[in-house]
Amino acid sequence: MQVYNAPLRDMRFVLHELHDSAAHMQAIDRTDVTQDLIDSILEEAAKFAQDILLPINASGDEEGCRYENGVVRTPKGFKDAYTRFCENGWSALASPAEFGGQELPEVLGKMVEEMQCSANLSFGLYPGLTHGAVLALLGHATEELKARYLPKMIEGTWSGTMNLTEAHCGTDLGLLRTKAVPQPDGSYKITGNKIFISAGEHDLTENIIHLVLARLPDAPKGIKGISLFLVPKFIPTDDGRPGQRNGVTCAGIEHKMGLKASATCQLVFEEATGWLVGEPNRGMHSMFTMMNAERLSVGIQGLGVTETAYQSAVAYAKDRLQGRSLAGTKYPDKAADPIIVHPDVRRTLMTVRAYVEGCRALSGWVAKALDLETKATDPALRQESEDFVALMTPVVKAMFTDLSFELSSMALQVYGGHGYIRDHGMEQLVRDARITMIYEGANGIQALDLVGRKLPAHMGRLMRGFFHPVQQFIEDNASDPNVLPLANAFGALQQATAHLAQAGMKDPEEAGAAATDYLRLLGLVALGYMWARTAKIAAEKLPAANGEAGFYKAKLTTAQFFNDRLLPQAGALWSAIKAGKASMMALEEAAF
Ligand SMILES: Cc1cc2nc3c(=O)[nH]c(=O)nc-3n(C[C@H](O)[C@H](O)[C@H](O)COP(=O)(O)OP(=O)(O)OC[C@H]3O[C@@H](n4cnc5c(N)ncnc54)[C@H](O)[C@@H]3O)c2cc1C
Repeated sequence: MQVYNAPLRDMRFVLHELHDSAAHMQAIDRTDVTQDLIDSILEEAAKFAQDILLPINASGDEEGCRYENGVVRTPKGFKDAYTRFCENGWSALASPAEFGGQELPEVLGKMVEEMQCSANLSFGLYPGLTHGAVLALLGHATEELKARYLPKMIEGTWSGTMNLTEAHCGTDLGLLRTKAVPQPDGSYKITGNKIFISAGEHDLTENIIHLVLARLPDAPKGIKGISLFLVPKFIPTDDGRPGQRNGVTCAGIEHKMGLKASATCQLVFEEATGWLVGEPNRGMHSMFTMMNAERLSVGIQGLGVTETAYQSAVAYAKDRLQGRSLAGTKYPDKAADPIIVHPDVRRTLMTVRAYVEGCRALSGWVAKALDLETKATDPALRQESEDFVALMTPVVKAMFTDLSFELSSMALQVYGGHGYIRDHGMEQLVRDARITMIYEGANGIQALDLVGRKLPAHMGRLMRGFFHPVQQFIEDNASDPNVLPLANAFGALQQATAHLAQAGMKDPEEAGAAATDYLRLLGLVALGYMWARTAKIAAEKLPAANGEAGFYKAKLTTAQFFNDRLLPQAGALWSAIKAGKASMMALEEAAF
């Protein structure tokens, strides 16, 4: 059995104590969103995740989606859960009030999203994609399209998809072939085949709104000749009901390693009617609004799955009796001690815990910037926040998801053979986590985005925006010996950044060779900074913590573990980066 109880205390710590929700709400002019309101929404979201979504996670994996003659059926319980999800207003949480949303801040929205992904990743994809499509339409669609589609998508009765991938083109979207032909009435006829489309067909909603990348007849070759179109499954009638069936059909679903309750569809567009979103040949620009939102969401997916893996492993480690403690028998009345007494099991659990809590703290920082980039009253703060979101998007996407697979596999290890068989649901978590490293741009591509685009952008301004608060914190706390590991890792990051700026400029292959290690190094330093600030707050609060002393002591111990055992990896990453491309690229292709 997978174990999941929403980590509400930690979420409240991140929101209120680490990231000062009260000051944040003032900065975005939302003082109506009080701490009490946030806490009560988190509690309701926790109940929904634990009581409605978790019970259908393992059964959904077992049953999977079914495809019959163009129709896709989600597993038992998914439709009911989805209906309740919409009725309870979860689909509208962070969407604009103008179109029926509740417009609650992203700092809250991302925590709720994490809970949904912890409890049931497959389920989380359906509303997650709709939210991304809503953002793309908000940013780039005409007022007429917005008025027609957004209210239904926000209330959740219509869902959204993103259609990029074709059989011959995944990462390299410049190869895309789907065509769009303009019609006299201003619409377009879309023809082509898409594969791997999440939620491309299903039985949860009355209509599905596809956002499709396609080429106009006179489009330039490559990535600069792609436009974005809205293609509904049913063309809405004037009074907003799903009307005539459009020319888009589902030719089949993929049989996958994991994420089995999420329908991954092959879609065929045969002169389907669509409408242009944004400007012609600027489709990638419009689609990036959705892709950036989804990349952060995929990072949160990784974090969510890891939390469940952690909680499950802890419960098992306290229960499973094997061997005796090396420090002397702990439970003489039992046949053996629980495996949580063993240092190696502790190493595993502490590693997962330190990363999960660190990533949650970092996701809170990024979510705060997501709110600030559009809603801060101060324009300088808006720009700073936009820079930070841009810099951290590939880091959150790639590091959280690489970690999710590594850490859920570590959590499975705590179960021994009982983790490898299906009964406990651990192998499902590992299988589900694996895809998060691939979709929304494989993690290697995220690393290239970081070193190739984000680092050089505005002459290094994005990176300086990150360096500044970390450096300030290190200087302000120079006398604290616990800040030394962060200072060392930060030094390695600064050297690696300078090295990459030079070496990458001379030879792009050097940047490509360093990219993945550099992304992890930057991510580790960001986590180190989160842990250093966490430890400072915990130390300040501990003396008067009374009933909460255990919480703050655990924070201090976990911060220490992160500093002792995980942050020092920064040095090894810097060494690998320095070594350059030589040994990586030296072998002739034929020698492989
Ligand atoms: C379950 C699932 C759901 C999905 N959902 C969607 C969806 O909803 N919509 C959608 O449009 N797509 C979706 N996808 C597709 C997904 O986004 C792609 O699989 C992904 O972008 C990678 O493309 P690819 O599989 O063609 O791999 P390729 O592009 O062939 O890449 C293969 C490997 O080569 C590496 N590589 C490629 N080019 C470079 C380069 N220039 N430099 C360095 N390394 C490189 C990649 O990192 C990767 O590791 C989904 C896929 C799956 C499996």
